[in-house]
Amino acid sequence: MAAPARSVAVPALSPKLLSVALLSVGLMLLLAYLVGFDQGAVSQSGMFLHELMHDGRHLLGVPCH
Ligand SMILES: [Zn+2]
Repeated sequence: MAAPARSVAVPALSPKLLSVALLSVGLMLLLAYLVGFDQGAVSQSGMFLHELMHDGRHLLGVPCH
């Protein structure tokens, strides 16, 4: 005999929630790009971005020295 089927409530994905989620992902990708952008020896902005993002760079494992 089969167990009775259970219904599971799944929250609806509203357009507002979807836009907030997509914006968040976009901002995270932009931040990851900025952290990895300036590579020290080939720096386009002096060492400002490199020094500004230095800890995040090491946290993500991006080589910089
Ligand atoms: Zn470093």
